[in-house]
Amino acid sequence: MVQTEVLRVHPTRPAAAKIKRAAAVLRQGGLVAFPTETVYGLGANALDEKAVARIFAAKGRPAYDPLIVHLATPEELPRVVREVPELAWTLARAFWPGPLTLVLPKAPNVPPNVTAGRHTVAVRVPSHPVAAALLRAADLPVAAPSANRFGHTSPTTAAHVLEDLNGRVDLVLDAGPTPVGVESTVLDLTAEEPTVLRPGGVSIEALAAVLGRPPRLAHPTVVEGAEVPAEGLASPGMLAKHYAPHAELWLLLGPQEAVLAEMRRRVLELACAGRRVGLLVADEDRARLEDVPAVLVSVGSVRRPAVIARRLYTALRELDRRAVEVILARDFGSAGLALAVRDRLLRASGGRVVWVEHEEGKTG
Ligand code: AMP
Ligand code: MG
Repeated sequence: MVQTEVLRVHPTRPAAAKIKRAAAVLRQGGLVAFPTETVYGLGANALDEKAVARIFAAKGRPAYDPLIVHLATPEELPRVVREVPELAWTLARAFWPGPLTLVLPKAPNVPPNVTAGRHTVAVRVPSHPVAAALLRAADLPVAAPSANRFGHTSPTTAAHVLEDLNGRVDLVLDAGPTPVGVESTVLDLTAEEPTVLRPGGVSIEALAAVLGRPPRLAHPTVVEGAEVPAEGLASPGMLAKHYAPHAELWLLLGPQEAVLAEMRRRVLELACAGRRVGLLVADEDRARLEDVPAVLVSVGSVRRPAVIARRLYTALRELDRRAVEVILARDFGSAGLALAVRDRLLRASGGRVVWVEHEEGKTG
C-alpha cells in the first residue's frame, strides 16, 4: 500500500506547480492517474521496465495485455516507434491530439512488458489539456492503461479511480469527468490493411473519410445488429468479460419495440424470482418502462450517441452502487460512438447476449 495523493486541477488550465509535481512522480518511477479525453489513465514512464511493472501489479492486469504509450506530440513517435509509415502521419494530422491509438512497429528501447512481448507498440497523443501538460512536463513517453482494476468498468472520474486503486497509485490528478467517456479507437497499421482492433472515441465513419474506405474490423460481429451470429454469442466465454460492472449484465439486441417488450417480460420474471434488476436504457424508453419493478438508468437520447458514450461507465457504476444483481441493457445502434458503446456492452456481458426478433415478420 502507498499513500495516494489527490491533486485537483482545472480541466483546461491546470496549475503548473501541480503538473510539475505529477511529472516528478513519473520521472521517479511512480504511478500517476490522470485524465485523458477518453477515460482516466494509470501512467508510468514507458521506458522504465520497473515502473511499468507497477502498473500491472496495481491493476491486477495479466502480463499478456499490452499497454498504450502516450506522447505529447506526433513528432515524438520515433522515441518509441521503429519506423513510422506515411499513413501514420496522415492519420496523426487528421486525429491527433485525440482518441485514436495506432499500432506500429516497436523501437528496441521500449521494454518488453509495455507491449507484452510483441514487436508492435500502441501509441497515441491525447488531447485533454491536463494529459498534454503532464506529458510535456515529464518529457517522457507514458504507458497508461485505464485506471481501474483489471476487467472492471473504466473510470471517467477521479472518484472512480479511487474506488478501484486507492492505496495502489502514488498520485491522482482530478480534473472532473472525462469528455469522451469510452476508450480510444485502436487501429493496427502493421496488419495487411488498416484494422480496427477496438472501436472507440474516433468513429469508423471518421476513419473511413480519411482512409478513403472503411477500415477492416477485427470483430465484425459488432457492426450491424442483424449480423450478430446468435449461436456464436449465446455461449458465455466466447467474449472475454471486460469493462464489466459487478452485476450480471445482459445485452438485448434487436428492433427497439421488440427489445423493450422483452425487457419488460424479463424484469417481471426476475422480480418474481426475488432478484433486484437494473435497466440501462435511452431517454426515449423511459415512458414505456416507468411502471416496471426495476432501477431505471438512462444514458441519454438515442439521437446523441456521443452523450451515451460519455455517460455509459458512470451509469454502470451507478447501477452497481444501487445494488442491482442483474442489469438488462438495450443496444443503441452502431452509428458514430454507438458502435463503441455496443462493443463495451458486449464485453461487459461476457457473452450474455439476447437477439430479440420482431413478433411477426420473421421472413429473413
Ligand atoms: P486500455 O489502455 O486498458 O484501454 O487497453 C489497451 C488496449 O490496447 C487493449 O485492448 C490492448 O489489447 C490494446 N493494445 C495495446 N498494445 C497493443 C499492441 N501492440 N497490439 C495490439 N493491441 C494492443
Ligand atoms: Mg482498460
